[in-house]
Amino acid sequence: MGLSDITTRIRKAEEAAGRSAGSVELIAISKVQPNARVEAVLEEGHRVFGENKVQEAEGKWPDFQARFPETRLHLVGPLQSNKTRRAMELFDAIHSVDRPKLARSIARIAEETGQCPDLFVQVNTGEEEQKAGIAPADVDGFLAECREMQLPVKGLMCIPPVEETPSLHFALLAKLAERNGLSGLSMGMSGDFEEAISFGATHVRVGSAIFGERVYD
Ligand SMILES: *Cc1c(COP(=O)(O)O)cnc(C)c1O
Repeated sequence: MGLSDITTRIRKAEEAAGRSAGSVELIAISKVQPNARVEAVLEEGHRVFGENKVQEAEGKWPDFQARFPETRLHLVGPLQSNKTRRAMELFDAIHSVDRPKLARSIARIAEETGQCPDLFVQVNTGEEEQKAGIAPADVDGFLAECREMQLPVKGLMCIPPVEETPSLHFALLAKLAERNGLSGLSMGMSGDFEEAISFGATHVRVGSAIFGERVYD
C-alpha cells in the first residue's frame, strides 16, 4: 500500500513484460479521498492525478495546483455535455469520450479555443447495459469520426465488468487499439494493474491501493 509500493510494483511489471522502465504512467485516482491524503502523495513528489467528477475536481485542484504547479489532471469518469467546456479547462486528459455527441462538443470547443486535452475513447468491452462506452463493434467507426474532427485521440480506455476475468477485456482493448493505430491503453486499477501492464497498458488508474479505501458518507 502507498505510492512507493505501487511504483515499485509497476517497475517490476514493466520489467516482467519486457517494457522499458517508466513506459507506464501512474494516474493516482484521488476521488473522494480526504485532502490530507492527497497532499501527502503530492509531498512525496507524485504529479499525475485522476478524478471522476468535474465538480469535485473543481473544488479541490485549483488550490493544489497553485502550490504544485506542474500537476497534471486526468478525468476518468463520465462527462455530461454541459460540463464539457469546464472539463477541457481543468483536465490535461479525458479518458471518458464515450459518445458521438460528446466528441462533437469537444471538437467544437477545441476549434474555438485552439486547445484540447489528450483524449481516450472509453470502450464498453463487457457490453454492459449500465456502463458507458462505445460497443466494441462500433469502435472503428467512432474513431474514424474522431479523426475526421481532428480530435487528439491518444488511445482507448476500459473498465472491465467486476465479476469477469479482466485479462480478456485488456486483450480486447489492446487488439482494438492496435487495429486502429493507437498506442495509448488506459486500463488497470488497484486490483489488476500488473495484469493490465502485461497486456500493454500505458496508463494505469490506481486509487485505493495508493490512498487507502475510499470512505463515502
Ligand atoms: C475509482 C476509479 C479507479 C480507481 O479504482 P481503485 O480500485 O480504487 O484503484 C480507476 N478508474 C476509474 C474509472 C475509477 O472511477
